[in-house]
Amino acid sequence: MDLSIVIPIYNEEDNILPLHERVSGALAGSGFDYELILVDDGSSDGSFALLRGVAERDRRVKVIRFRRNFGQTAAMAAGFDAARGRVIVPMDGDLQNDPADIPMLLAKIDEGYDVVSGWRKDRKDTFVNRRLPSIIANGLISRMTGVHLHDYGCTLKAYRREVLEGVNLYGEMHRFVPALASQVGARVAELPVRHHPRLHGTSKYGISRTMRVVLDLMTVTFLLSYSTKPIQLFGKWGIYTILAGFVTGGLTLYMKLFEGMSMNRNPLLTLTAFLLFGGVQFIALGLLGELNARTYYEAQAKPIYVVRERINLE
Ligand code: UDP
Ligand code: MG
Repeated sequence: MDLSIVIPIYNEEDNILPLHERVSGALAGSGFDYELILVDDGSSDGSFALLRGVAERDRRVKVIRFRRNFGQTAAMAAGFDAARGRVIVPMDGDLQNDPADIPMLLAKIDEGYDVVSGWRKDRKDTFVNRRLPSIIANGLISRMTGVHLHDYGCTLKAYRREVLEGVNLYGEMHRFVPALASQVGARVAELPVRHHPRLHGTSKYGISRTMRVVLDLMTVTFLLSYSTKPIQLFGKWGIYTILAGFVTGGLTLYMKLFEGMSMNRNPLLTLTAFLLFGGVQFIALGLLGELNARTYYEAQAKPIYVVRERINLE
């Protein structure tokens, strides 16, 4: 199978029929052998009944229904796990993404890329609470992960299937897949895609998502840079902190011996205690991290490297 389209659905009853129509329309003449995986993320409206109806009429449509609302990332992960296509294309279920862009994404994959990320260049969302936070977040994510994209938040992307097999999603991580994939050596490209205003139903997110994205960014940055060597991060700061403690401690002593400043009146003494304790804590955290890293990798028999090809082996 060439292509699996994965769409998370949470209370999108007015969008399901037009969505199915547009996807079928966009791919009808393309000759692709595709499947459309619709994941109902615990909808409480009529979405599931409609999904069932669509699946009865069209054998290419596959439906997964969650027992409750687990979130967009979980819904996408369930679709990825079920997908059989050579290329996997996730998309929003609210008609904001346009399935007519899919052939173009696939063509880019065939140029040799493993991930092609959609860029809503002309985005149809409000500025203050959607586009502005997104501009800031994309700048931050690009800087921190080293993978420069204009639009991490765009759901419409294309992945070569092998790339997703090595990536596990938690929290709100679906947007970080290009960065996580690039960590395992994926070639990442970006293409402008169409974007439409939401016509039916309401957005499931507000400004509060910004905070969740920032927290996940911290996790991803750590995973990308230090997850196999936590002592290198924490130990370094531990050593700096302890050295700073020696400096302030030395100063306190100097001031006592040569300037007659009583040690217990000198705020530097408190700072010294903080720095020395803090430094030891950092190092201890790094060592605990090292233990955890071993458990993490070895319990899953997870290699610390990723191979692209093998020749004359197996
Ligand atoms: N969605 C989901 N579970 C959730 C929230 C959202 O499956 O808990 C789906 C939603 O139905 C839509 C997609 O994720 O297909 C994107 O959501 P939305 O359009 O609300 O996000 P926005 O475009 O406003 O960022
Ligand atoms: Mg939307």
